[in-house]
Amino acid sequence: MNLDELIYYLDGGNDSELFARSAAAKSQGVGNQTHPRGLIELSNICPKDCYYCGIRQPNKEINRYQMKFEDIVAAADFAHANNYGSIAIQAGEQQSPQFTQLITDVLTELQTRHSPPLGITLSLGEQTKETYAQWRLAGAHRYLLRIETSNEKLYYTLKPNTPKHLFNNRLQSLKDLRECDYHVGSGVMIGLPNQTTTDLANDLLFLKNLDVDMCGMGPYIKHHNAPLQDSKQSINERITLTIRMIALLRIMMPNINIVATTALQTLDENGYKKGLNAGANVLMPNITPPKYCVDYNLYDNKQYVDILSEDFNIEWGNLGDSPHYIARTK
Ligand code: SAH
Ligand code: SF4
Repeated sequence: MNLDELIYYLDGGNDSELFARSAAAKSQGVGNQTHPRGLIELSNICPKDCYYCGIRQPNKEINRYQMKFEDIVAAADFAHANNYGSIAIQAGEQQSPQFTQLITDVLTELQTRHSPPLGITLSLGEQTKETYAQWRLAGAHRYLLRIETSNEKLYYTLKPNTPKHLFNNRLQSLKDLRECDYHVGSGVMIGLPNQTTTDLANDLLFLKNLDVDMCGMGPYIKHHNAPLQDSKQSINERITLTIRMIALLRIMMPNINIVATTALQTLDENGYKKGLNAGANVLMPNITPPKYCVDYNLYDNKQYVDILSEDFNIEWGNLGDSPHYIARTK
């Protein structure tokens, strides 16, 4: 699809055709089953200052925590016992040797602890290529690093233009991850202040061009203690835009894994279901111990939905790898 077509569909040019095409692309590209990943929010310690994020370093009104090795392994045991097949480990962006080692130790332990081992996605921000390689070798095989927006100018309204936050570093990380042989995931936020439909269409072309194996994209939601202003779009507008983005990406990249995000579920009590219907095929239910996850608030009113209690067509006990990765590395 070209830029004009993408803008046409994003503007609501023909929803019935869009969703019919994405449903066909989904069943042909990845089938109709949903892959679960148990999400472990390992730490809310972060040295960065992303203006949209509730756990950014300057926010003094939260308790900082870091899960201990034993807690992390216990959460993974829970995922294994409940047949999740895969986990995702997410945290603020710590680059210390101690943190790198903790993750390496956890990954090493998890390779032998369960048989077969859980699939492991990391989402730990920008790291050196050496660190990415070390974690890959220790057993992580997927990595999620959202570009947030592919428009560099808009990017610097989301983050300060300082050495810690350079757009080019984020691009370099995505390249390094691919070279380290990860299944690479990226994505964007939808409904950012000053983001246009053309920006979103360009984001889709960016993801296609990057040849991602996975994607997580969801609506931007204001955090009361973060300086980025609220979205100019209503909740309903952001929900609609998000499911159109998912549907378009599914048509453009039929065999990648796409997440129906918690941010979408937070804005709409049927968000997971709408995301899956539009073309997503992954859910990431939170399995962080409650004593920690109350302090992992990226945005306000974050929702916790039990996917066991609803019919999401979950395929339990499987890795659910992206067919796109398998095809491109054959
Ligand atoms: N520190 C890592 C991972 C944790 S943040 C990183 O930044 O990559 C994970 C994702 O949460 C971010 O990529 C961002 O897209 C999303 N996020 C953070 N704050 C948000 C907000 N206010 N609204 C919607 N999504 C948000
Ligand atoms: Fe840190 Fe990620 Fe939040 Fe940025 S988005 S402040 S890197 S946790």
